[in-house]
Amino acid sequence: MRHVLRTVPTRAPSALLLVLPLLAATSALVATRSIRAQVAISDADLERASEGRVIALGNVSSGRVTTIPLEMYVARVVAGEAEPAAPEASQQALAIAIRTFATANGRRHARDGFDLCDGTHCQVPRNATAATRQAAFATAGHVLAFEGAVADVYYSANCGGQTETATEVWPRASYPYLRSVPDDVHEDEPSWTLERTLTQIQQALERANVTGRLTGVEIASRNDSGRVSRIRLVGLQPELMAGDAFRAALGTTSIRSTAFTLDRLGDVVRFTGRGYGHGIGMCVVGAGRRARRGESADSILTTYYPGVRITPIAMLTGSR
Ligand SMILES: [Zn+2]
Ligand SMILES: [Zn+2]
Repeated sequence: MRHVLRTVPTRAPSALLLVLPLLAATSALVATRSIRAQVAISDADLERASEGRVIALGNVSSGRVTTIPLEMYVARVVAGEAEPAAPEASQQALAIAIRTFATANGRRHARDGFDLCDGTHCQVPRNATAATRQAAFATAGHVLAFEGAVADVYYSANCGGQTETATEVWPRASYPYLRSVPDDVHEDEPSWTLERTLTQIQQALERANVTGRLTGVEIASRNDSGRVSRIRLVGLQPELMAGDAFRAALGTTSIRSTAFTLDRLGDVVRFTGRGYGHGIGMCVVGAGRRARRGESADSILTTYYPGVRITPIAMLTGSR
């Protein structure tokens, strides 16, 4: 059972709602956008476009729950997750991915008394902008579906040139649309580097219950996307650690991804890598680059999630 956002009674449909069936066809997204381009999208527009769907949003620090219309939530999360000044098609693609995640995970925090939290565990909202309201409105009510059910999608900051297969990180997330695909838009991006002494690495690993004295770090294996799947910690017990666990131990903002190589310079280990984040699903930086070279939201989404279709929520199995 996967479904869905609760609904609340709506007011009588406005003239605007009569336009919304036009959105049912993906090709209508562009036409609707140009019609609306000059008109700022208001909170009331987003509430009407939500058709009664709401998100009970829990604050990660206070636990306070705020109930907001779905499309307002989408506009706010696009503001939190998109690149600044991202082109329109990539903001629309992100809006659809964000709405899809919210729809598929609407019961994630049922035990906490809300739908989704406002931290990185779920999706992070910020203040909506004119552009993010536009992206939510232009794609309102549409999600990614696979074989008639809402897809279980994830997205990541920057894949570095090759996205990751979800099961490499989350063994249960076995879906054909979450497999590694090449992303040919990152060639001119510089790689990141990080240097740590063996002592610093050992200290960072101490919470991971290792014993012994670290004398070397080696890549033990890579997965099909080229990311480090296991790392060898010479001198420690246990000697092998999963690549993503190693990244988490050293800090996910330090080791920006597991797509790295290693060099040893005396007592120092230098990591040189590409991308930022787990790399699963849509790549937010790559989506922006694709939009800049003229790709549509539909093309962007089906590149990163092969086999999915943009579908109105109302057409999904079990939806209300
Ligand atoms: Zn959460
Ligand atoms: Zn990418």
